[in-house]
Amino acid sequence: MERSLYDYSSPELAALIAAVGEPSFRLQQVQSWLFKQRESDPAKMTNLPVALRAALAAAVVPTMLEAEAILESADGSRKVVWRLRDGARIETVWMPTESRLTLCLSSQVGCALGCTFCATGTMGLVRQLTPGEYLEQVLLLDRRFERRPDNLVLMGMGEPLHNRPHLDHLLHALGDLAGYGFSLTRVTLSTAGLMDELLEFHHDFPQVNLAISLVSPFDETRSVLMPINRKYPVARIAQTIRQIDPKWGGRVTLEYPLMAEINDRPEDVRELVRVFGGCRVKVNLIPYNTTAHATYSRPEREVIALFQDALQRAHIPAFVRWSRGQDVGAACGQLVTA
Ligand code: SAH
Ligand code: SF4
Repeated sequence: MERSLYDYSSPELAALIAAVGEPSFRLQQVQSWLFKQRESDPAKMTNLPVALRAALAAAVVPTMLEAEAILESADGSRKVVWRLRDGARIETVWMPTESRLTLCLSSQVGCALGCTFCATGTMGLVRQLTPGEYLEQVLLLDRRFERRPDNLVLMGMGEPLHNRPHLDHLLHALGDLAGYGFSLTRVTLSTAGLMDELLEFHHDFPQVNLAISLVSPFDETRSVLMPINRKYPVARIAQTIRQIDPKWGGRVTLEYPLMAEINDRPEDVRELVRVFGGCRVKVNLIPYNTTAHATYSRPEREVIALFQDALQRAHIPAFVRWSRGQDVGAACGQLVTA
């Protein structure tokens, strides 16, 4: 499998440099190219000795991703469609406001979990991303648009907890001061509900914000919409949230794509409050975004507002999150490349 220098962890890079007989300070030079200049083509690393440049160039390809299309939404966000070296595609969403830039990263090509309301789920799992493919979504866009992101959300295609080794590589490269130097408190990971994996992840990366796609508080409904519910039912989600470090300052976000007559009824609010009332959670209500494959629909605005009010009256913080980039297929649930 081809790799770019972003696929190498810091120890692997050190070993590569040592193998050429170069001193260890070369590592800092290479890392400075990768993370400060955002340049991963060894041929362009002009302050390295020619022999080292040649050895690195023989080991890697310049980048793993190539921007095939950049679709600009009327709301200012952009969907970047990347072509991977084997011809597969992933998408990253670039969402600026005046004060902040948020990037939504993909974790896999497709997704194995097959949620019925999500376009990505129709693809099945095509393959895992390499660590470099994961990381280049950040570095190549920082360089292309000359703007460093303020927030990173792992909410694009795929399930981030399905590939811990590559997720760890991403977070170390982002978080290390010798790497991108990005505060992991500005990263949010969203999972469809892999609870054992989430506990382990939180133990290892307590700084990262956590989100869980709840979708319905009823097991019968949730199991139809999200087959993973048969393994990790709703009660397990509530139990895990209670287990998550009580000293932890954060609140777990429950993501709740709102679908008319599926999960927007008064009984849904009641059950949400009954199950999660005592938990440190907040709820993000995401009005359903149309996908080509599913037949659900978005509730009326007043239904959405009533749902939010009812949660807030029960002292569960609730926010309505209108997705950005709906006109270019960049909204939550719309990312699909096959
Ligand atoms: N696999 C992870 C990460 C992807 S996040 C997860 O599922 O959590 C994608 C988010 O978009 C999830 O919160 C999901 O519930 C939401 N979503 C999926 N399809 C949607 C749709 N059609 N409309 C609105 N939100 C949707
Ligand atoms: Fe996969 Fe998340 Fe989409 Fe479900 S909602 S199919 S877990 S990407």
